[in-house]
Amino acid sequence: MSKKQEKPSQGFADFGLSETTLKALEKVNYETPSPIQAAFIPLALTGKDCMGQAQTGTGKTASFILPSLQAIDDRIPATQVLVLTPTRELSDQVNAEAERLSYGTNCRTTSCVGGKDIRRQINDLKKGAHIAVGTPGRVLDLMSRGVPALWPLKIVILDEADRMLDIGFRPDIEKILRRCPDKRQTLLLSATMPPPVERLARRFMNDPDRVDLSTTNVAATTVEQFCVTVDREKKFSLLTRVLFQEKPRQAIVFTRTKRGADALYKRLSRKLKSQIAVIHGDLQQRMRDRVLKGFREGNIRLLIATDVMGRGIDVSGVSHIVNYDIPEFCDDYVHRIGRTGRMNGERGRGFTFVTPDEGDQLTNIEVRINGLLTPYTVPNFEAFTPRKPYDPKKAAEEREKAPPPPTRNGRYRRTALAARVV
Ligand code: AMP
Repeated sequence: MSKKQEKPSQGFADFGLSETTLKALEKVNYETPSPIQAAFIPLALTGKDCMGQAQTGTGKTASFILPSLQAIDDRIPATQVLVLTPTRELSDQVNAEAERLSYGTNCRTTSCVGGKDIRRQINDLKKGAHIAVGTPGRVLDLMSRGVPALWPLKIVILDEADRMLDIGFRPDIEKILRRCPDKRQTLLLSATMPPPVERLARRFMNDPDRVDLSTTNVAATTVEQFCVTVDREKKFSLLTRVLFQEKPRQAIVFTRTKRGADALYKRLSRKLKSQIAVIHGDLQQRMRDRVLKGFREGNIRLLIATDVMGRGIDVSGVSHIVNYDIPEFCDDYVHRIGRTGRMNGERGRGFTFVTPDEGDQLTNIEVRINGLLTPYTVPNFEAFTPRKPYDPKKAAEEREKAPPPPTRNGRYRRTALAARVV
């Protein structure tokens, strides 16, 4: 069954949430439900399986945490809700949101991610943390160690399902879902709904209700999106010019590879001595945490990131996104752009650098977002030298002028044509 998004005319009080939850919402200053919350919360509260198409930055975390809180019996010390996320950073973020929204209850939450002390996580689960938020690898590890508190689950949530499948978590997710009780509610959130996500849903969800929320429109209304055609060798100069011209409050610059991110960081930090950092999956967890903390607190203003790491960044101060390398997949474009213009009423700005041979990727993005990126120019800077159109007459003249190719022993070879002219 498919349900179209309705206009969010309801307030949180109309959803039948508990008094304690309404007070917690007041405390965090959430006055009006965001569109995904207005559409998803009432469906999830029915106890049915639900799928929602929404990206980070639209308030999707609360849309599954709030219904979960209504289902939890906080007098029973057992894990009743499991949230799976693609990255450790996103797990920590969801965990923090769950803590904030469960204010006033006895509900306890824990983050089960790799790179952090597993004994503490086992301890938390054994003591019966009500909500466990984690990455599939670590959660599976905990389940395999027979951490008993994970079993009486009522709700399983797959957050950013598309990204979890992209980065190869399918086998782990399937193993986890097979170990979860059959009688459970499964909620799935995803920015995009490609066939692998649909297949996962068909296999592990029970006739789910759907919320169709066009993510592209959300991004388009809150982010101004530009493109600049640039020669590959001028990308770095263009970046410095754009940063100088735009003066971002905080910016994320995306590269396609970890090595590219490191190289750009090295080059840029020679120009900008402070407030710049790089984040990617090869960095140690401690370093990743430190960088994100610095970015969240505003001490870092320019962050160079790869796609996977960029996903976990929920910082409302991000005013600019720069796609230094055009994303390989157009869905990544939507995710990258979604890091700005995040629910604080301010419009973000997104810039995509396109080299002359990347026209196809640009077209794919424009088809995906159903709109055109606006060309952007930097005054007095020629980012792209247009190829001269082919002029057969001029080409023939240049051929005439050029000396004949040398022979192997260095002497000019008289071609048949040259011989005839002579
Ligand atoms: P999310 O999409 O869950 O990552 O949320 C993006 C940001 O919006 C987070 O900083 C949330 O705290 C905030 N947020 C979520 N729901 C609301 C709401 N109804 N009103 C105001 N802010 C919200």
